[in-house]
Amino acid sequence: MSDNCLFCKIARGEIPSKKVYEDEEFFAFHDINPAAPVHLLLIPKHHVVSLHDVVPEDAGWLGRMLTLAPKLAAENGCTPGPDGGFRVVANTGTEGGQEIAHLHLHIIGGPRPWAKR
Ligand code: 5GP
Ligand code: ZN
Repeated sequence: MSDNCLFCKIARGEIPSKKVYEDEEFFAFHDINPAAPVHLLLIPKHHVVSLHDVVPEDAGWLGRMLTLAPKLAAENGCTPGPDGGFRVVANTGTEGGQEIAHLHLHIIGGPRPWAKR
């Protein structure tokens, strides 16, 4: 937990968000500035800055987080199956375009066309 982290505050409910999912480990919500018809952010509730910081011992929760992506995509408007689909993006570090320093997966989809990011 990090007191001054925006996404920690969102996960704790201290800053409002359009929540789509929550369990003991994870929190997912709509991106405030969607880049596509479906644009969710999926975060671990514990504070991790980015993929730069993960170690092999994190494989368990990272795997569980990734397996949530197709479920959340399907539940929130992405067409399931090979003709549908979605993108998962984890911007990492400054050159990776990361703006919020709490690890997050962008889940992006919906009917094309929409811009790549
Ligand atoms: P990054 O560039 O760090 O990968 O992406 C951060 C994302 O967080 C951006 O897509 C941005 O629109 C989103 N974002 C920033 N502040 C807020 C906020 O207060 N609420 C929500 N729901 N999304 C936010
Ligand atoms: Zn945080």
